Amino acid sequence: MQGGVVYNYVMEGSTIGQIKALRCRECGREYPATLIYACEDCFAPLDVVYEYDRIALTADALTGRPKTLWRYIELLPIADPSHAVDLGAGLTPLHRASRLGEALGIDELFVKNDTVNPTFSFKDRPTSVAISKALEFGLSAVGCASTGNLAAAVSAHAAKAGLPCYVIVPADTELNKTVQASAYGATIIAVQGTYDEANRLAMQVADDYGWGFVNFNIRPYYVEGSKTLAYEVCEQLNWTPPDHVVIPIGSGALLCANYKGFNELRAVGLIDDVEIKISGAQPVGCSPVVSAFNAESEFVEPIEYPDTLAKSLAIGDPGDGLYAVRRIRETGGYAQSATDPEIVAAIKLLAKTEGIFSEPAGAVTVAALKRLVERGEVASDERVVCYVTGNGLKTPDAILGHLPRPVEIEPRLDAFTAAIGVKEVTPWSR
Ligand SMILES: *Cc1c(COP(=O)(O)O)cnc(C)c1O
Ligand SMILES: [Zn+2]
Repeated sequence: MQGGVVYNYVMEGSTIGQIKALRCRECGREYPATLIYACEDCFAPLDVVYEYDRIALTADALTGRPKTLWRYIELLPIADPSHAVDLGAGLTPLHRASRLGEALGIDELFVKNDTVNPTFSFKDRPTSVAISKALEFGLSAVGCASTGNLAAAVSAHAAKAGLPCYVIVPADTELNKTVQASAYGATIIAVQGTYDEANRLAMQVADDYGWGFVNFNIRPYYVEGSKTLAYEVCEQLNWTPPDHVVIPIGSGALLCANYKGFNELRAVGLIDDVEIKISGAQPVGCSPVVSAFNAESEFVEPIEYPDTLAKSLAIGDPGDGLYAVRRIRETGGYAQSATDPEIVAAIKLLAKTEGIFSEPAGAVTVAALKRLVERGEVASDERVVCYVTGNGLKTPDAILGHLPRPVEIEPRLDAFTAAIGVKEVTPWSR
């Protein structure tokens, strides 16, 4: 149905469809790869595991493949490539960020620029895989609960797949994000409540209507898309992994998926068994994972009313929070929060030094990295990759009041000359 063009390279001897099972993250019980999403014994999440021994994926084999995440199809949970719904998510630029590195005190810093995905956030990655899987399961409609970016990603991929789409968002979601989802033809339901409340409603809808809700019943497949960031970072660094990656945390799924991604590259022999520290970043106004990390606790205390500019990260009760804490600890990384003013400063710094305009949830990694360097937790000679996950054009209001307004002049050279000497300018307002 979809994506025929993309799969020309899938030829004889290719090893796609090597899913072994869904495996419980707690007890290890395995299930066939169906629409099940939690362990029947311990309710823990299920992860897709593959027959890694049978997967033949080499650096050479990747040459000439599509410049999207579907280049790693052997490690994606789709049995029939014709189901792939491909809007072009993935294989985003990995920038050598020398100027930002200099500002932060890191010699070798890279920015993984996921602001340039088809709907302008990394959410296109998991969504592309989830909607493909929904087609493979033959589901009649799809949907999600969203803090905003997922709404746009699911709506766009549903449109491409020709599936009806229902998204449930908190009523205070940024206008640009709901406008975007609406344009793709989805039905948007704005719930008077928090993300966690929207999420609970979505779970009931998924159960009741039997639709594919990407963050519930197709979640094990959904999260697989996010690990492709780890694959790309390693491929773009010529299979020499970085020392340290900094990843934003909302539900914690992105961070956990990247941990899995690095491990899978080791399992199929694409990278050596070297240490890669994974650090997580949250806004101070919603940092349950950071609190649990700092308290050395095995319990992530939910935040009832998140309060932050980084709305994409305003998940008070993060589903993968505890696993994120464990992964961070296990890899020797850190969990670090940053205040809203620090996040605004980071948006500006990233834009001014590297020409990359991020939304608050993306720049939180830059703000957290600054703190990590100041605390001596990231050394200047570490090779660091900072994930920047969402586009600044999605959230102009977050930064409008912190930027100078254009200086208005009459169209004359003397007026221009007078104007460029202007020191004080009025900020934008709305
Ligand atoms: C959703 C989102 C995140 C957080 O991802 P989780 O998987 O929820 O931890 C980070 N950045 C942006 C831009 C997002 O939209
Ligand atoms: Zn279990």
